[in-house]
Amino acid sequence: MRPENLLVPTPAGLCCPEGAFHIDPVRPVKRALITHAHSDHARAGHGAVLATAETLDLMRLRYGEGFAGTTQAVAYGERLTIDGTTVSFHPAGHVLGSAQIRVERNGLVIVASGDYKDVPDPTCAPFELVPCDVFISEATFGLPVFRHGDIATEIGKLMRSLALFPDRAHLVGAYSLGKAQRLIALLRAAGYDRPIFLHGAMEAITGYYAVRMDLGDLRAVRDGQKAEFAGAVVLCPPSALGDRWTRRFPDPIACFASGWMRIRARARQRGVELPLVVSDHCDWDGLTRVIPATGAREIWLTHGAEEALVHWCATRGLRAKPLHLVGYGDEEEVEVLEAATASSDQDASATDESAAGEPA
Ligand SMILES: [Zn+2]
Repeated sequence: MRPENLLVPTPAGLCCPEGAFHIDPVRPVKRALITHAHSDHARAGHGAVLATAETLDLMRLRYGEGFAGTTQAVAYGERLTIDGTTVSFHPAGHVLGSAQIRVERNGLVIVASGDYKDVPDPTCAPFELVPCDVFISEATFGLPVFRHGDIATEIGKLMRSLALFPDRAHLVGAYSLGKAQRLIALLRAAGYDRPIFLHGAMEAITGYYAVRMDLGDLRAVRDGQKAEFAGAVVLCPPSALGDRWTRRFPDPIACFASGWMRIRARARQRGVELPLVVSDHCDWDGLTRVIPATGAREIWLTHGAEEALVHWCATRGLRAKPLHLVGYGDEEEVEVLEAATASSDQDASATDESAAGEPA
């Protein structure tokens, strides 16, 4: 069997015709296998959804009970057969519940990794290297300029700023699923034990994480007084950094935790005073470490900067091609775009916490 026949790029997303399922479909389909709960991968409206229990729970939190016709939870490593095609889910190290999906038929193995990172994250299971014939990789940070560096250094920058400016609220823009909770866990691990305040759009997801791991003293911004925010860490969706919501804080410092913060112009453009290079995606080193380690003879690249990676693979004797799937991106980029679209025709919701920043 040729790999091109096992998984086929279609307008709805990657499709397995033999198993009659799609992986992370961007349009409603009969049967969807979902790698993780970020909104560009996990959409509502499918007939049947197969995903890890955490991904299903997070989708339920985001979309409500009726987000799919039926759901089935799968454990990491559990093998299921769908019309003669064997599938299993393996940790992707991206966010809680995130998985790479291994698809096998007639001895041919393709791994669709969704989004992934191979560096430690205290809030999710570590990335598992899954040997395969074809590895499908994201290329979000697929340029040599993207090197995320040591996360402890970035947390150290924030801790130093908190010590230097004890009267200023530190507003940290962070994606509300995964990034925010990882930052909280890292701050706690670094010894930061003061209350951490949450924007309304982060409460439910962070609450879900907090029953699974100790995230310390978490409080809602709407329950706090201005004086309490002095010198405090306040987590919010990146899009909230630019809106009226920030006026309630004393002399706020805008911080933004993202892999894009490696590019200084991006930080300046967005008025970020304290850029923190923190990403839940592989950087260039991670991508070029994982890709050859899978043993795959062929690499298919999805969203991001595919060209440099295609070239890099060629220099290593690996066949590589971009799949040109549409509808995926870095969560933060998607969020910023969606927030920009939403705010172009409204004003009132800019101060509505529940509406700010969360992708639809
Ligand atoms: Zn993601």
